[in-house]
Amino acid sequence: AGLPRLDEVETQPLVEIDTSIPHTARMYDYLLGGKDNFAADRAAAQTVLAAMPELPLTLRLNRQFLRSAVRWTARRGIRQYLDIGTGIPTAGNTHETAQSVAPDARVAYVDNDPIVLAHARALMAGHGLGRTTFTQADLREPEKILAAPGVREVIDLEQPVALLLISILHFIRDEERPFEIVSRLVDALPSGSFLLLTHASPDADPERAAKASQGWRTASAQMTMRPHGEVLRFFDGLEVVEPGLVCRWNPDGDDEDEVLELGDRVMGYGAVARKP
Ligand code: SAH
Repeated sequence: AGLPRLDEVETQPLVEIDTSIPHTARMYDYLLGGKDNFAADRAAAQTVLAAMPELPLTLRLNRQFLRSAVRWTARRGIRQYLDIGTGIPTAGNTHETAQSVAPDARVAYVDNDPIVLAHARALMAGHGLGRTTFTQADLREPEKILAAPGVREVIDLEQPVALLLISILHFIRDEERPFEIVSRLVDALPSGSFLLLTHASPDADPERAAKASQGWRTASAQMTMRPHGEVLRFFDGLEVVEPGLVCRWNPDGDDEDEVLELGDRVMGYGAVARKP
């Protein structure tokens, strides 16, 4: 087997990696059972786990949402995916999932963590027809994301796009205007595009949620869990598809793993919505 073909066109600037600060991506990797994390990431994750021992199951459910929603949109004709907040590669990434339904599906990954990008380049090289690019950029600068060469190379803004904001908006604080960020991105997409979004929520147990959120206090980004009604605001002006903004989203009923042991302790929501 030869080396993976790297599809990205940009040369990214080298970014200093500070292993003493817990990073959201590396904490997430640790909670999912990955190996790409450092002592500070594990210590912060342990604080979260002490309050919310079922979090690894919630994160598996979140990955399940990602796969279900990507397949759902691919079956309905979507061929371009803009995935902001890629995360450290794990099984069933966006491009693998989309290309399992539509081999020509193209994916632009965006993340602000240099470690994510380094892994992503090594592990997620495009296969076959579909193209995959990686861009280091920040969700808080949506115009830069939309203009980035790596994004423009695979995303044609004249054709419907699936915009993935999976488990990332709870890292954007209220004063950073998360609702405005989402509408600026959605405004750039044509009719028939979809928004795929999940978000942590305190609704199931506000006390435990507050304790768990402390785990991100000193991290690269802090945790802002939002109640159902607030998460729903991200879909303003869009048509939320059935079954709506829910803890378990699986309308095609084809999920491989239901994470049933989680019961009703799901501390987050996901939905898919169509731009009219
Ligand atoms: N979407 C993946 C990973 C979620 S973890 C999944 O659901 O499985 C959150 C990811 O968002 C991390 O990789 C982190 O580096 C990234 N992230 C956090 N804040 C960000 C920001 N402001 N801009 C871009 N990426 C960000």
